[in-house]
Amino acid sequence: MLHVWTANIGYPGPHRLDVTRKSGGMFGSLFAPSWGLLKSTHPALGGTLPWEEYAKRYTQEMRASYAEHRSEWDTLLAAQWAVLVCYCREPTTCHRSLLSGILGKLGARVYGEITEWDRTVESPCWPIKPLGEWGEVL
Ligand SMILES: [Zn+2]
Repeated sequence: MLHVWTANIGYPGPHRLDVTRKSGGMFGSLFAPSWGLLKSTHPALGGTLPWEEYAKRYTQEMRASYAEHRSEWDTLLAAQWAVLVCYCREPTTCHRSLLSGILGKLGARVYGEITEWDRTVESPCWPIKPLGEWGEVL
């Protein structure tokens, strides 16, 4: 079963999966919003689409991605751990949060955003434990 976290693109730890259109590559970009959707939303690109509408359209795009790239989705869902990373500072208005929710509906266990990692790089197995079990560390 997949255990999934989210983090900013600066996250340097294990199980990092870049899910951006810009740098996600062949695999990660299957889970990224289209350029068209990004441009209609991102303020830096002149976009003004409200978050609710963005979330709706992104979910539609992911439905299409799932239908078209089922084996890649299954590969991700069959992994044990993934940390979905994106450039956005604010996770609550980033597709990485929507994606973790979608993966949750598909059976993954969702742990939320990793916000601190400086003190944790010493641990080679991090973050394989649920965040709550790390207490002081996270
Ligand atoms: Zn983002």
